Amino acid sequence: MTILQMEKIVYFLGKIVNHLSLTYDDVLFYQRLLKAEGLYQDALDGIWGKYTDQAAIDFMAESISLEEELGRFDMRTENNIRSLSLAGQSEARQFMQRLSDFNLTVKIISGTRTYKQQDALYEQGRSKPGKKVTWAKAGRSYHNFGMAWDIAVFNSRGAYLTTGKSYERAAKVAMDTKSLFWGGNWTTLRDYPHYQLRTEFQLAQIRHRFEKGEKFFETSVIV
Ligand SMILES: [Zn+2]
Repeated sequence: MTILQMEKIVYFLGKIVNHLSLTYDDVLFYQRLLKAEGLYQDALDGIWGKYTDQAAIDFMAESISLEEELGRFDMRTENNIRSLSLAGQSEARQFMQRLSDFNLTVKIISGTRTYKQQDALYEQGRSKPGKKVTWAKAGRSYHNFGMAWDIAVFNSRGAYLTTGKSYERAAKVAMDTKSLFWGGNWTTLRDYPHYQLRTEFQLAQIRHRFEKGEKFFETSVIV
């Protein structure tokens, strides 16, 4: 294991960052995701070494080829799509494609969150100021495994729409019930902006497999 001492620009959850700014938790999170993708075989040790670096490069290359095949979108959407698992990226791009003729603008405004970010978000509206935005603690949200995204809908003047109606219309156009689940269909605590991948695994199984770096979803086949 070689630890990279030199400052390096790396991709982490869709963002370009200096690798020295990543915490142990950040790196561990990324290693788990990369291992589950079959791109990383080394230890889940939270250290950004050469194998993590190589896996991150391979992950980027796969992300770029998905973008080339399935289309590119606005910057904010792009950053969030790239934070997803490869299966998530493939589904999210196809989802955005289906919205290309929709008369409202849809952007993906949220993608993957680390456990730490999830816990921080959970505290919003509880121990911290703000409105409650999530009911899930770390490891209890599909966002924590690269399998979920949230959208925002805007009208032609760029105004952010918050009514359920516009989100229902977007879901009608963009849902693929074979591969996706829409939060607007939850009977309790409806979550209109939320989409997640369908999977054969229960949430607890996904969490268990993710933490061991085991595959927990089928890599989407591009047709
Ligand atoms: Zn969500």
